[in-house]
Amino acid sequence: GSGAREIASLTPMMRQYLEVKALHPDSVLFFRLGDFYEMFFEDAVRASEILQITLTARAKGADKVPMCGIPYHSSRRYIARLIGEGLKVAICEQVEEAGTGPGIVRREVTRVITPGMVLDEEVLEPRDSNFLAAVCWSERGWGGALLEASTGEFLAMEAASAAELAESLSRVEPRELLVPGGQRDSAEVAQLCARLPRMPAIAESEAAAFEPTRAAGFLRTHFAVQSLSAFGLDDSPLATSAAGAALRYLKDTQKTPAAHVDRLSRQERSGSLLMDESSRANLEVLRSQRDGGRKGSLLGVLDRTVTSMGARKLARWLASPLGSLPEIHARLDAVEELSARSVWREELTGILKEVADLERLTGRLSLGAGNARDLRALGLSLAQLPRLGKALARCQTALLQSLAGPLTALPELADLLARAVVDEPPVVLKEGGLIRQGYHAELDKLVELSTSGKDILLKIEQREKERTGIGSLKIRYNKVFGYYLEVTKSNLHLVPADYIRKQTTVGAERFVTPELKEHEELVLTAEEKRCALELQLFEELRAKVASAAPRIRSAAEAVAAADALLSFARCASEYGYTRPEVDASEVLSITAGRHPVVERMLGAGESFVPNDVRMDPEDAQLLVITGPNMAGKSTVMRQVALTALMAQAGSFVPAKAARIGLCDRIFTRVGAADNLARGQSTFMVEMTETSHILHHATRKSLIILDEIGRGTSTFDGLSIAWAVAEHLHDHVSARTLFATHYHELVDLARERTRVKNLCIAVKEQGGKVIFLRKLIPGGASRSYGIEVAKLAGLPSEVVGRARELLQNLESGELDDAGRPRVAVRQNPKRAVSTGQLGLFGEPAPVAPAAPALPASHQQALETLKA
Ligand code: ADP
Repeated sequence: GSGAREIASLTPMMRQYLEVKALHPDSVLFFRLGDFYEMFFEDAVRASEILQITLTARAKGADKVPMCGIPYHSSRRYIARLIGEGLKVAICEQVEEAGTGPGIVRREVTRVITPGMVLDEEVLEPRDSNFLAAVCWSERGWGGALLEASTGEFLAMEAASAAELAESLSRVEPRELLVPGGQRDSAEVAQLCARLPRMPAIAESEAAAFEPTRAAGFLRTHFAVQSLSAFGLDDSPLATSAAGAALRYLKDTQKTPAAHVDRLSRQERSGSLLMDESSRANLEVLRSQRDGGRKGSLLGVLDRTVTSMGARKLARWLASPLGSLPEIHARLDAVEELSARSVWREELTGILKEVADLERLTGRLSLGAGNARDLRALGLSLAQLPRLGKALARCQTALLQSLAGPLTALPELADLLARAVVDEPPVVLKEGGLIRQGYHAELDKLVELSTSGKDILLKIEQREKERTGIGSLKIRYNKVFGYYLEVTKSNLHLVPADYIRKQTTVGAERFVTPELKEHEELVLTAEEKRCALELQLFEELRAKVASAAPRIRSAAEAVAAADALLSFARCASEYGYTRPEVDASEVLSITAGRHPVVERMLGAGESFVPNDVRMDPEDAQLLVITGPNMAGKSTVMRQVALTALMAQAGSFVPAKAARIGLCDRIFTRVGAADNLARGQSTFMVEMTETSHILHHATRKSLIILDEIGRGTSTFDGLSIAWAVAEHLHDHVSARTLFATHYHELVDLARERTRVKNLCIAVKEQGGKVIFLRKLIPGGASRSYGIEVAKLAGLPSEVVGRARELLQNLESGELDDAGRPRVAVRQNPKRAVSTGQLGLFGEPAPVAPAAPALPASHQQALETLKA
């Protein structure tokens, strides 16, 4: 950049750089030099690598200073990339005009952009929230706060453990974690981060910011309240500390009074259906496990919202479904009404398309950022709200009607903005052209003056030509004299007495008149005054927006809720969902249910096979599901959990009919491969998660256990699986789906009254295993592993030998060491006969003790085959 040359020679500037950098050691410093932001030293090395820009070096004495630069006008995408890598960027601007003071231009950091503190629309992802989480802990437990800088949303919470806090935080997937100074590498922070959906960037704040009394004082001052009791923080020092530190971080990094943060809500755990992060990830609620994207997730299927506010709201609803029946019923009523009326849906959608991101526009503007385009967009959006309100007021259901109220509260502001801001204002604020004609009388005069100034000069010129008879007389302008009249030497004798001589040049002389000076004053200052006045009017409008921010936010909430409900309604009608019956029972009954995501991902010609699942506290509390790999066990289990989750989020569900007894929590435990990266053995993770479930599940919970006990030896695994199932039956009594490859577990149904066996039917046809995907009563007595292996092309000798070994194992003979006796093979040729056991041959020897189960299984298979 142009500033680059300066830096090498100008040591004062380098000194200035180093001073500023010392205040922001953990940020990449963008140092403004002319039209560039320059980076030096390590910042330059790191940034050039991430941004793929050229690293240069400047000689400075004996050393070379690495540097790189980016153009000021395209800085946003570079900032976005650095933030994306978890870095902070400190923006250091020139804070005075060049040449106004002695020495070098003063520079200051005007804001620090961090992964959790982003306001810029070009850096923010519109449909995702961008939260900062602040956390602290003591022997009493954990405190947490969530703050969205762009919208001003602010939540505080307390929790008994890191796991519990992570559960609350991970609903919004925070981008950045603020911890007390010196704690970045502490065991507590590691413990918390291991339970968050993705690793947030970590920032430290001086420990004093977290100090409870200071934090409380800071919050009281910000909200101008006597006590924090209105926020439910009376007796919650940990939540208060975290909230105080979060807000201070916002104010410090953005150098703003943060007027848009005008409320703080205490987040209670009890109000919603709880899910820990691994369950949310397993069920692929917000993102798919394959690539972490929305596609392939529940959100990806259900998000048919029109506005980004609605999209963020819907994600929140799915990440944290409701725990109270009246609220669930209210949403379901609304969805029912909207799903039945496609014309209304289209009308509402049409209006919503005209509404911009009110939350973020207001956030930016009330932070003192944002430009006239933001005001214009806000005005146009606000103007749509009464229409939306009217349309909602027409609805029958209470929830939809209640959304209409906040939408009618802002007509004056919409009107004001419409009158004040031009249709297509420029981005820059200092050069005028922002304010509409007719809005402000003095401004109109100034505009008139500066634009008509040229005409007036021409008129004066013409008049003076006629008066003096000097045909070549010209009005000219230069910086030193301003406007002047130029008369050539040959015409000097015609110059009238009232001309004042200013300067003599080679061929001419220059004069001014009082009239010309007066006019000059008007024209030049008019332009300047006009720009200043427009900026002032803009700032007044921005302040009006800031003071209306609470009402705008309420309206935005209503818009977002309406959009999310419409999205549910559209899915309900287009995907063939039905209204679930949600009640206080402990029943979970789904007729012809489908997996909401799998059914949408199937290719042409494939169709999803619906399944019935019935659970009730009397005789089917724990369902043991057996069946070969790939049969569809995990699909059917996830489908049950997702159906319950959707119902409690207020959505219709993919089934013919469903009755869901309110769940307090959903737990899932499935394959642990993804946890390997966290340094624990698969088996250890599996057991830790299982123990968490056994400790926290209640009668009202829904538990999904897939292949428990897999990570250890067969007998260990089977024993653990068996004991876990018994405990869930005898002590927890939670609704449980238990998929297992230990088909011995089907025997549990004979001992325990509330255990039922189900299996997924397969059939053999033309030497192939066909997956019927149908859930049928009974236990698969065998896992068909050998048949599947045979289909995979294992040599027939190996297959035969495997069968032989299997039979020995299943006969249960133990050797002296307590291990199953495996027959030593004498003559390979003799062992082949057992290989004739077909896929649907006689049940293996372990099962006949319970003739009823295999028989019913057999019957069911017969009916399917018929
Ligand atoms: P398992 O857990 O028994 O190994 P999965 O549940 O992973 O089997 O199912 C394997 C595949 O079968 C899934 O990826 C899905 O595409 C398909 N599938 C499962 N259930 C059904 C169904 N009911 N209808 C259609 N396809 C299904």
